Amino acid sequence: MIEKVLIANRGEIALRVIRTCRALGIKTVAVYSDEDANSLHVKQATESYHIGEAAPAKSYLNQEKILEVMLSSGADAIHPGYGFLSENDDFARLCEKNKINFIGPSADSMNLCGDKMKCKAAMLKAGVPTVPGSPGLVKDAKDAARIANDIGYPVMLKSVYGGGGRGIRIVNNDKELHGGYESVTGESIAAVGKSAILVEKFLEKTRHIEYQMARDMHGNTVHIFERECSIQRRNQKLIEQTPSPVVDEETRARIGQLVCNAADAVDYTNLGTAEFLRADNGEFYFIEINARLQVEHPITEYVSGLDLVKLQIDIANGEPMPFRQEDLRMNGYAIECRINAEDTFLDFAPSTGPVPDVNIPAGPGVRCDTYLYPGCTVSPFYDSLMAKLVTWGQTFEESRSRMLAALDDFYIQGVETSIPLYKTILGSKEYKNGNLSTDFLKRYGMVDRLAEDLKKEKELKAEAAVAAAMAYSEYFKSRVQGAGQGWKR
Ligand code: ADP
Ligand code: ADP
Ligand code: MG
Repeated sequence: MIEKVLIANRGEIALRVIRTCRALGIKTVAVYSDEDANSLHVKQATESYHIGEAAPAKSYLNQEKILEVMLSSGADAIHPGYGFLSENDDFARLCEKNKINFIGPSADSMNLCGDKMKCKAAMLKAGVPTVPGSPGLVKDAKDAARIANDIGYPVMLKSVYGGGGRGIRIVNNDKELHGGYESVTGESIAAVGKSAILVEKFLEKTRHIEYQMARDMHGNTVHIFERECSIQRRNQKLIEQTPSPVVDEETRARIGQLVCNAADAVDYTNLGTAEFLRADNGEFYFIEINARLQVEHPITEYVSGLDLVKLQIDIANGEPMPFRQEDLRMNGYAIECRINAEDTFLDFAPSTGPVPDVNIPAGPGVRCDTYLYPGCTVSPFYDSLMAKLVTWGQTFEESRSRMLAALDDFYIQGVETSIPLYKTILGSKEYKNGNLSTDFLKRYGMVDRLAEDLKKEKELKAEAAVAAAMAYSEYFKSRVQGAGQGWKR
């Protein structure tokens, strides 16, 4: 049984894992870089160890160093969080070799899931529909152009090793293809040191709908419903919700069964996510499996009532799935906003630096997973995600209005944030009506609408200030005129 977990991550996800371990009476070991010496996860863990310089390659990606801490601290398991080493099958194998329980799938299964091409092939074999595209990897840009002309532009070039919106590019014609090929190759090599490219049909006006899945070591598989993650920028998720407005009971069960087949096909263990694109005609196409805990897992926790990190630990302990598919019920509506440190008007460029003060929202149906505290710093070395603001409601409307109120309540001093943009989006009729698609921001000109909203807000504030000044001067005049006549009521 797991008694001490090393968390090979930082930020909100390290805190999230520590929280569940505490509740289960499991000891925790934090690791941190120079940059994170004052971070909350370092204070909250049972033990903490410095592992190197700020740059991820020198700390959170340093496998040997992390292994060394694991062995010397006597941790018997490792939780990788998301990002960093979470989907690195070499690292999972290194843990297996050293008899450390890696809380996630086996190295072999991870290797298969981590390769978009191999995984698509396995899905096709299991009868799961995938996005039409090249039958295998393309040899070079010329080969990619030939296939692109076959399937018809626009196409998506993807590195099989890409992730987090990096290593993928839309290309509209032969002219754009060469530049696109170069940049996908470059990004992939920069991120993981290698590149291999596939071509996919670019599906227009699609929704990103994914399924949470779980499979234990005894072959029991369940899906824990869908999440709609169509509100994105640069192919990265911003706002997620569950249930999806376009998934009914029948579809939920039908695609859910495909997801369970998919998990069986790659002999998956622990929690994972199967991602799909849903075309406008209602067809679902598999895109990839994320072999780890997903950023947006809290919305699934809200509607399922489960602690997904606990479920991960139970499965890693070899326990059988504590419920069957038919025991799972979806309750209510949940929304997550990823609160990023970025400037919407500078093309979402990161905004970093000290945060002298914060106010973190709370209240019924409001959850905020964050590393922020008054006096902390947002580092330029890591992900721009500062907080995940999550709300639950008995109806979609309750969840949405709680989110709007919580966004108002959220105050972060010192850096630009995505909060104003989310207020505009959550307040729009398109969002309310569930008219979602992965090009939502561009399709409805959300950034321009934010600029208008901010201008209006400024004007209203100015008007209110003038009105207050006028009222005061009237009051003052009446006092002067009335002087010597006693108080008038
Ligand atoms: P998800 O749906 O869970 O966001 P993605 O494939 O989009 O899945 O990306 C995984 C997450 O890991 C993203 O939020 C990404 O920004 C994050 N990530 C990637 N690299 C790092 C890192 N170095 N530190 C923290 N988070 C990271
Ligand atoms: P990553 O590994 O970076 O998460 P994905 O393959 O999951 O990459 O794709 C990320 C996003 O890119 C999707 O959510 C979707 O918005 C868009 N996308 C990916 N493939 C396609 C496609 N074939 N057609 C249209 N959009 C796509
Ligand atoms: Mg993805």
